Amino acid sequence: MIVTIDGPAGSGKSTAARRLAERLGFRFLDTGAMYRAVALACVRAGVDPEDRPAAVEVARRVRLTLQEGHILLDGQDVSEAIRTAEASVAASRVAVIAGVRDAMVELQRQTADGLDIVTEGRDQGTIVFPQAECKFFLTAAPDERARRRQRELERKGTTHSFDEILAQILDRDQRDASRDVAPLRAAEDAIHLDTSMLDPDEVVAVMESTVRARQSTSA
Ligand code: C5P
Repeated sequence: MIVTIDGPAGSGKSTAARRLAERLGFRFLDTGAMYRAVALACVRAGVDPEDRPAAVEVARRVRLTLQEGHILLDGQDVSEAIRTAEASVAASRVAVIAGVRDAMVELQRQTADGLDIVTEGRDQGTIVFPQAECKFFLTAAPDERARRRQRELERKGTTHSFDEILAQILDRDQRDASRDVAPLRAAEDAIHLDTSMLDPDEVVAVMESTVRARQSTSA
């Protein structure tokens, strides 16, 4: 079974997807980490995302290995390096490029092939896995999303002002939702959850009961 979770930055997708996968005994796929790793590879290779053919070349050339909770870029664990505020912005810049997306979509489908999986991103229910049995679309108020992102960056030891993070989130939302290829949007058959007033356990509980109900009707 494939479960997709899409939504904007800070909507709680990653935490919910990871915990849901654990509870269900499914694999977990963090597709944002893939775009972040490609962005990091571009920075390291001195490639500006404005140079689209060069960025596509990087996306095709790099070897991304996804292990539970970790991502390796050409064999090196970059799980921490891709989590900076700068990497978030860079990821959303490479993610507008059709050739980069084609390479990532292919890898996502290969990774999920034949598995029970929870996958999270922006286009999982719409483009990558339109046939998924269970789709969720998470949202939350921008202020709340910025607060969450600020706390996450603080835990990693970097301090950014609330206003700076809010501006970055709104800018990223705008780029993700307005791009020509695979813009951020909910699939028609997605269940919408506003997580502004919910804690992660509550979000996961709703998702788990929905998935289990679908499992028993399809069994
Ligand atoms: O989810 P996360 O914040 O890690 O994603 C980083 C960026 O990667 C997003 O802002 C978006 O531009 C891009 N992305 C995407 N499609 C996905 C996952 C992430 O375009 N499926």
